[in-house]
Amino acid sequence: MRVRAVLLQNYRNLKNCAVEPSAGVNVICGDNAQGKTNFLESMWIFTGGRSFRGAKDRELVAFGEHFAKAFFTAESFGREQNLQVAITPGGKREVTVNKVPQESASALVGRFCAVVFSPVHLALVKEGPGVRRKFLDTAICQIQPKYAKQILRYNHILSQRNSLLRDLKKSNKFESTLEIWDEKIAECAATLLLKRQTFVGALKPSAAKFYEGLSAGRETMSLQYRPSVQTGPGETEEALKWEIFKKFEQLRQEDIAAGFTTRGPHRDDLEIKINGKSARQFSSQGQQRSAVLAMKLAKAELIQRKIGEPPVILLDDVLSELDATRQSYLLNSIAEKQVFITCCERDLGKKLAAGAVFTVEQ
Ligand code: ATP
Ligand code: MG
Repeated sequence: MRVRAVLLQNYRNLKNCAVEPSAGVNVICGDNAQGKTNFLESMWIFTGGRSFRGAKDRELVAFGEHFAKAFFTAESFGREQNLQVAITPGGKREVTVNKVPQESASALVGRFCAVVFSPVHLALVKEGPGVRRKFLDTAICQIQPKYAKQILRYNHILSQRNSLLRDLKKSNKFESTLEIWDEKIAECAATLLLKRQTFVGALKPSAAKFYEGLSAGRETMSLQYRPSVQTGPGETEEALKWEIFKKFEQLRQEDIAAGFTTRGPHRDDLEIKINGKSARQFSSQGQQRSAVLAMKLAKAELIQRKIGEPPVILLDDVLSELDATRQSYLLNSIAEKQVFITCCERDLGKKLAAGAVFTVEQ
């Protein structure tokens, strides 16, 4: 995967900007608040995802303007695609692919593949399980786009079951209908559980390898999927479904008393340990950053294995808090890919033997 050209109009503070990046490392440097992160964010939009900073689309339109436009040429397996996104002040995305206007903004999904690290992703270690579940689900969607529908289906059934549980708390008139929802939710839960466990199984050795490299062999990191419903190995999806169904039966009174589904894939967690201890509770800032980076690099490796070419790597403000050893391991491990890296340091381009250095000013 390679970005050939980016052209922006009224995208946040980038009024008019045209960039032809190099195939290797691109350093985006400049003082604070000049638009470096904005530039990375504009490229991320072409993955079809929301802003990695959690911004709403309407916030991407430059203050006082009526639209934001971004044009993008990416190359994948030697084929060029021209993508265009226009964002209205109401926050609607209008997408064009190779000059053909698309009915839905989701037409972008799967065309451009990137992995992004930004300081906001430190939440992966620091915050609650929801952030980690989202990381897993987003990564699996990048590898298997149909997984997105399976999550939607699970969430839909979960909310129907929860609404029945809320009613049952008041009256047990419809308790027998719960069994129908238990079977449905067990089926979807089994699909999600298997996909997530398989993904973590593949991510784990790769993340451990990157973490070991970042810490120059001095520390270890381990990942473990922690399901809230304990089941046996569940050899097939069907077997797992019936195991989960039985668990839901056992939890029935607890769920009715609570008025919601107390366990299931929506309550699971991904445990991150550094040197055998919970990273959330005990790690330093540099260790947290290294753990998140290791997970992102591992994700890039899995994507590359699956789709057959490396994703583009977007690194926002990645080097701060990393010591020289960690910095140099990181920069070596991404050397073969197209990379965009922001920094405030003008000399980084030389240090990295960058393919191109872009300065962002005013
Ligand atoms: P730092 O080194 O501090 O991370 P940066 O170069 O990454 O800085 P950005 O986060 O890209 O800076 O933001 C640059 C500027 O863009 C900010 O000062 C912000 O106020 C401005 N900005 C954000 N959204 C808009 C918008 N919709 N319209 C105009 N300007 C905006
Ligand atoms: Mg920034």
